[in-house]
Amino acid sequence: MVVKTDTLIIGGGPAGSYLARYLVKNGFNGDVMLIDKKHVIYAPIICGELLPTEDLLRPWINGELHDVLLATLRETLRREFILNEIKWLRLVINDQDVARMPFTTYLVDKSALVKNVIEEAEHMGARIHFGVTAVRCVARGNGYECLVHDKDGGEYVISTKTLIGADAYPSIVDSSLGITNGFSAEDLIIATSARARGKYVDEEAIIIMDPEIAPGGFAWIFPRGDGSHNIGIGARNNVVWRGSDPLNHHMLFVRRFRLEQVQRSVLMKTLPVGGLLNRYGVGRAYLIGDAVGSVIPTNGSGINPAMITAHLLGESMIRGSDYSVSMNRLFKPLMDRAILFRRIGDPLLMNKRAMERALRLSRSLMASSIYEATLSSMRTGTLIKFLISNPLIKLVSGLA
Ligand SMILES: Cc1cc2nc3c(=O)[nH]c(=O)nc-3n(C[C@H](O)[C@H](O)[C@H](O)COP(=O)(O)OP(=O)(O)OC[C@H]3O[C@@H](n4cnc5c(N)ncnc54)[C@H](O)[C@@H]3O)c2cc1C
Repeated sequence: MVVKTDTLIIGGGPAGSYLARYLVKNGFNGDVMLIDKKHVIYAPIICGELLPTEDLLRPWINGELHDVLLATLRETLRREFILNEIKWLRLVINDQDVARMPFTTYLVDKSALVKNVIEEAEHMGARIHFGVTAVRCVARGNGYECLVHDKDGGEYVISTKTLIGADAYPSIVDSSLGITNGFSAEDLIIATSARARGKYVDEEAIIIMDPEIAPGGFAWIFPRGDGSHNIGIGARNNVVWRGSDPLNHHMLFVRRFRLEQVQRSVLMKTLPVGGLLNRYGVGRAYLIGDAVGSVIPTNGSGINPAMITAHLLGESMIRGSDYSVSMNRLFKPLMDRAILFRRIGDPLLMNKRAMERALRLSRSLMASSIYEATLSSMRTGTLIKFLISNPLIKLVSGLA
């Protein structure tokens, strides 16, 4: 069987659902279909579910990009999806309480948020099919054909003029069409996600940098506002591949921070933190969200970046402009800075003793650099701070 559509979006996460809704809402000339391999709309959730407020990033990022961020938040974030309003960020490095800084963020019900976007897209005319997995796609004539399996064991082909990979990492669209060079192991994080209880206050998010617990990444405790917390760790793939099990790191974190898991299962997912891939598409096949590498390399946040890339692609499909040009102009500068900051900080994130030495050298410089990197700062001052820190970090990690 062959099913025809004008635009096929593979993946109904923040990126794919936002694009489907954007296209039908803005009068896209053609039929829009979205498929997702999940049986239930966007569940289970593997995420910290932290979202910045409108004001948090304003002083740190470029104004035009902030406008796009605002547009995505206004289109998707309803009051009822906000479970908790967080005011502070507590930074813990190697068991030491290093700083407490302003951090107005929301803890959201991500599943409800995405479900709402999908339902609105469907209501406005998009065809939505969950329980459908894309197996591979090929270019055929003026378009593409994707072989899919449905949840009842059926197999069919979807033929489309435009193909969108919103299917995160590793993307079937990317791998079957050979669009990009992909990510290397050092640019991938294996992240765990669980729900827990512990003696932590509702107004404070906690980030823990400790190479023993989260080599090459960090651990987090994000309060949900009801006494429970979203918790997890992100460990770099190249470290994990050397034999350490991310689940052991997760359990060490749970014990050290006296957390009590609410549910037994710990979910895991791979997250790309290597910045944007070398290409965003080929012909009329495009990548958005995690599939194009939109996760902020310094903090692992990807919900809004995914929607930002979807917004930019949607705009270009409606107006006939070039997606790559708007990505390079608006989003790439921030990503390039973030990847530079992450790479400069990497030697510390991988080595506990180096982290200890850096902390002794300058606690306040460490705290402010981590804070600014977490906020995706595009300020020149942050760039200078990191460039000055670079030789110092090399020195302390060489000594350690
Ligand atoms: C543990 C963890 C914690 C995180 N915490 C945060 C946080 O606090 N804040 C934040 O902003 N970001 C966070 N992120 C990142 C964020 O979750 C992602 O960046 C974001 O969800 C990316 O959206 P997306 O739509 O690109 O991809 P996804 O949300 O991953 O959606 C992709 C969809 O594609 C579907 N799919 C995949 N392959 C196929 C296929 N072959 N056929 C059909 N469907 C397919 C999947 O089922 C999925 O629904 C976290 C990530 C992890 C792993």
